[in-house]
Amino acid sequence: MKPLFALLASLLAITGLSHAADKPNILLIVGDDMGYADVGFHGCKDIPTPNLDALAKSGVRFSSGYVTGPYCSPTRAALLTGRYQNRFGHEFNPGGATTGMPVGETTIADRLKSAGYVTGLVGKWHLGNQEAMQPQKRGFDEFFGFLGGAHSYFESRGILRGTTPVTELDYTTDAFGREAVSFIDRHQAKPWFLYLAFNAVHTPMHATDERLAKFSGIADKQRRTYAAMMLAMDEAIGKVRRKLADAGLEQNTLVFFISDNGGPTMPGVTVNGSRNEPLRGSKRTTLEGGVRVPFLVSWPARVKPGVYDQPVNQIDLSATALAAAGVEAKPEWKLDGVDLVPFITGAARENPHDALYWRFGAQMAVRSGDYKLVRYDTNADTGTGKRNQPVSAAKLYNLANDIGETKDLAAAEPDKVKELQAKWDAWNSTNVKPLWGDGGGDSDGKEPGGPQRKRKQNAE
Ligand code: CA
Repeated sequence: MKPLFALLASLLAITGLSHAADKPNILLIVGDDMGYADVGFHGCKDIPTPNLDALAKSGVRFSSGYVTGPYCSPTRAALLTGRYQNRFGHEFNPGGATTGMPVGETTIADRLKSAGYVTGLVGKWHLGNQEAMQPQKRGFDEFFGFLGGAHSYFESRGILRGTTPVTELDYTTDAFGREAVSFIDRHQAKPWFLYLAFNAVHTPMHATDERLAKFSGIADKQRRTYAAMMLAMDEAIGKVRRKLADAGLEQNTLVFFISDNGGPTMPGVTVNGSRNEPLRGSKRTTLEGGVRVPFLVSWPARVKPGVYDQPVNQIDLSATALAAAGVEAKPEWKLDGVDLVPFITGAARENPHDALYWRFGAQMAVRSGDYKLVRYDTNADTGTGKRNQPVSAAKLYNLANDIGETKDLAAAEPDKVKELQAKWDAWNSTNVKPLWGDGGGDSDGKEPGGPQRKRKQNAE
């Protein structure tokens, strides 16, 4: 500890100022089905994302930031538990009205609530419709949003405030931005945790006319609509950040931003006009295009801006948030992630993970160092869009010089294949079987979601 800091710490202790006053607020922002290429901080040219770019500038951009799967619900289960979803059978999107995140799992909201935080979810849940699985039973004091996997952007049916149906809605993305600002406004006495889970830019492709008009230069209609939806999300994030600044909370609020999976670009998934270049593959594949996502952490009080290149995973966000909140993670919680702060501040020199793992049915992947071993859905190659296509043979890529996974090294480097396969087998031996199957779940999301709509839970 630096002398000045130690002196300040002891003065605080002497004056009896509460340690709790130092606890950061935690804001977890999730985009839905965003393309890797579609943010300014990854070089996007046709869609401006000034507010996301400002967030990136204020913190650390992770150039190898991953999610734990290529689908909405499984990655959200991992995000909120800090554990690989394969540990508890949440491998696929829930099918039917009764399935959802197992009630034996504890969420980051549960843990932060126990630590004195006020907790809120604004946006998409997609972790179970049954009462015992709803947000208010999973650690969230407040909820405004919808329970399913996709939702109309204009229809209020299925949108809830707590358990009460909302009867009026302007546009979900605008409403979610407004509700997030309101949450921050109403909770300044205590530290808070807000999970802001946009359904943007998941299908259905709904945008406001005013925003569509700004993209008349984009000829492709789907891309144009996608751009207008991205703009809405970026504006909402801008409003939330302005609220933080106006309230004097910017310095000590830990903000995370990720997409829940890669852009859906291949036939058979909820294609939305997104792009994943220079990555190959799509949502629903364990190629980079399915699992590597825009990934930001901002905490001005503690973390200097920069870029961090070592592989990290969304499961790290729980561990990072708990450490920031002063909550000691217990071994029996079986968290898979690590606190990222020591790594990005340089206090820890090693890599956060020896390896990262994926299992999605017969698809798999493991990344260790620059190497990745992957078996992926061959729809990514054939583009037939049909379910139950075979997975590829095991392919080995060196991502340091082949981020697009184009040069298969499996035949040239058989020892590396064996090494990575052995790592994956060891990891996989600690997983359980999926609790439910891959029901397809390729709803186009045209129907409004809600607890009364059984099909909605299948939306990807
Ligand atoms: Ca998604």
